[in-house]
Amino acid sequence: MGDATGFLKIKRKEAGNRPVVERICDFSEVEQILNSEDRILQAARCMDCGVPFCHWNCPADNLIPEWNDLLFRGDWKAAYRRLSATNNFPEFTGRICPAPCEHSCVLNIHAESVTIRENEVAIVEKAFSEGYIKPSPPAIRTGKRIAVIGSGPSGMAAADLLNKAGHEVTLFEKEARAGGLLRYGVPDFKLSKTVIDRRLELMVKEGVIIRTNMNIGIDISIQDIVNKYDALCIAIGAVMPRDLKVEGRTLNGIHFALDFLIAQNKINGGESVDIAETLNAKEKRVVVIGGGDTGSDCVGTAIRQKASGVTQIEILPKPPVVRTSDNPWPFYSRVMKTTTSHEEGCERIWSVSAVRFTGTEGKVSGVEIEDVEWQMTEAGYSMNIIPGTRRVIEADLVLLALGFVHPVTDGLVNELCLELDARKNIKTDKSHSTSIPKVFAAGDAVNGASLVVRAIASGRGAAIEIDRFLRVSTVNGTG
Ligand SMILES: Cc1cc2nc3c(=O)[nH]c(=O)nc-3n(C[C@H](O)[C@H](O)[C@H](O)COP(=O)(O)OP(=O)(O)OC[C@H]3O[C@@H](n4cnc5c(N)ncnc54)[C@H](O)[C@@H]3O)c2cc1C
Ligand code: SF4
Repeated sequence: MGDATGFLKIKRKEAGNRPVVERICDFSEVEQILNSEDRILQAARCMDCGVPFCHWNCPADNLIPEWNDLLFRGDWKAAYRRLSATNNFPEFTGRICPAPCEHSCVLNIHAESVTIRENEVAIVEKAFSEGYIKPSPPAIRTGKRIAVIGSGPSGMAAADLLNKAGHEVTLFEKEARAGGLLRYGVPDFKLSKTVIDRRLELMVKEGVIIRTNMNIGIDISIQDIVNKYDALCIAIGAVMPRDLKVEGRTLNGIHFALDFLIAQNKINGGESVDIAETLNAKEKRVVVIGGGDTGSDCVGTAIRQKASGVTQIEILPKPPVVRTSDNPWPFYSRVMKTTTSHEEGCERIWSVSAVRFTGTEGKVSGVEIEDVEWQMTEAGYSMNIIPGTRRVIEADLVLLALGFVHPVTDGLVNELCLELDARKNIKTDKSHSTSIPKVFAAGDAVNGASLVVRAIASGRGAAIEIDRFLRVSTVNGTG
């Protein structure tokens, strides 16, 4: 450990964000970069507390105190080696992970955690800029062929590890470009797409074959893929949206959040996309239903499209400012979160339920809401409507950001008759195997909609199991 008392001398310092007036005029990344000297000082704040709760709460099992120590010593190269031992893509998580590790950092007891996420992205960006990250194809090829279906972070992580293990990996993607929700869901102002392209180029130079515009199960039979490859990893995500089937739902101007975000991401990426005027917020009153992160991404996107006003509504109560007694450290703190998009100008309303859409001439004109209150009962929280509180928020564009229920099952899931769990996610056992021999699965398709870091961890887990399966089948002569 570098400086045992660093945390007593050095205050938490974040890189900060570009000014609101500037950033709302473009889609470039909002977060800035701290200089290397300050970054090293921030790493000195890690006190190597003995039991690394940060590590416990990182789904990728990142060795946080170890790379913080290396960073403190100025050994950026060794820090990168330690970081990349557990995380294929720190440049993604370092930008957009909600950093559960920081919630569990011992310094978070006093709300001053180490800047773990920012340290992570600084290490990997230094590694790219100093040229330590070079294509390193495997020295020996095994002759085994693997198809990874879906090129989001879980499919990318699985493909990366399996290729490094010497297998021939083809990454199939139904969209025009690889990257999954990183490319088409997450807005550029959180994650520049050049960051995804840089990593994909590296993977291609190392031997991963990427085939886009291939909707497996629709454009080409999944059975053909099963027949041609030694193993498969299904990493198709979970993007079936939760709907709000109330009166007026069929009015024009009501869209799923992801459709709205995909449209803007495709425009930014220069993909020719026929965007209906209804999918643009310009000079419209926008209501986002759903107070989570996807909703927040819609807020930031609508503001950049020059909406005349944005309101985000949420059925749950407004979270507390500080932890409550039933949500102690070191657990993830369920406190009020204000994203950079919220700072850019948006009204937020909690404890309201959307009960009806109003409209004129087939077009939405408002969302009728009513207040609700939540009570703790023996069976858990119960919601009660507060009578006499109905009112309408005027709207020209309504975005439904109510989460995702499970993977899309039309296509390959149905064709293969893959067994699903109770929530309609792809069912796997501990070894990531599905109900079909030699077919494995990873990421949101298995876990339900989650986080990039969980998708990466799951893709890595599946890759390890596929590699084990192929080696066993080679030994047994079954492969
Ligand atoms: C708007 C939005 C913002 C988010 N922001 C964050 C954030 O800030 N931080 C965070 O940690 N997480 C965030 N997430 C969650 C995160 O993006 C996902 O958990 C993660 O991308 C899941 O990775 P995945 O690889 O399992 O699936 P996905 O990223 O969904 O990738 C699945 C891929 O499979 C492809 N595919 C599907 N079916 C087929 C088929 N039949 N043939 C070929 N290809 C197919 C899809 O086109 C897609 O490219 C966000 C999600 C959304 C929707
Ligand atoms: S991946 Fe997320 S949880 Fe893990 S160390 Fe990085 S920021 Fe923390």
